[in-house]
Amino acid sequence: MLDIRQVHKAYATPQGPLRVLAGVDLRLAAGESLALMGESGSGKSTLLHLAAGLDLPDRGEVRLDDRAISSLAEPQRARLRRERLGLVFQQFHLVPSLDVLDNLRLQARLAGRESPDWTARLVARLGLAGRERHYPEQLSGGQQQRLAIGRALAPRPALLLADEPTGNLDETTAGEVLALLLDLVREAGSALLVVTHSPRVAAPLDRRLRLSHGRLGEAPP
Ligand code: ATP
Ligand code: MG
Repeated sequence: MLDIRQVHKAYATPQGPLRVLAGVDLRLAAGESLALMGESGSGKSTLLHLAAGLDLPDRGEVRLDDRAISSLAEPQRARLRRERLGLVFQQFHLVPSLDVLDNLRLQARLAGRESPDWTARLVARLGLAGRERHYPEQLSGGQQQRLAIGRALAPRPALLLADEPTGNLDETTAGEVLALLLDLVREAGSALLVVTHSPRVAAPLDRRLRLSHGRLGEAPP
């Protein structure tokens, strides 16, 4: 469903181009889960942005559902993102003026995939039952992070892209939130590409890859 082919990416810097990705190939099948690891600065977030069509490669191709998103204009890419992808970043990206339930509903509606049953199930599984009418600022950090995960999964996206989704949480909370994320991804039937530094998080996933010197290689289990 995701097919990244020979992708190259460099950033312009005052010292000249900084080569970050130098021929990255990555294929992800429907429902498959993959951990993306690698040192800070190795290009993990860059690769995730390319996978989401938030940025474009200098060379190579990114295909989603057999469409070359890297050749589409931004409005078409944005539409594919809304309809096919869930995104979770370290910053929560919640809508502050909408309560818990409406944050979830909005995302599902934008994707044209509203499902009251799934939304209700999400609220319960996220531990937010009774808080449906609370606004993000009234939630704790861990609750906001769970809501951000729920929002990304509200449309049951074909693919969830998560960039260190628990980076802002203490270790215990992070462990719980990640376990929840994996459970919900499975329930939603989504494929998962998650950036993580934690071998414990990576261990139960289908595959683990490490980004190093612009290339992807197998990471030890
Ligand atoms: P971390 O684990 O710290 O989040 P990362 O693996 O996600 O790191 P990236 O954010 O992809 O790394 O960055 C890869 C390299 O590209 C870094 O050296 C970073 O400084 C550089 N970089 C990222 N974005 C830009 C940009 N917009 N302009 C210039 N350089 C950038
Ligand atoms: Mg990063």
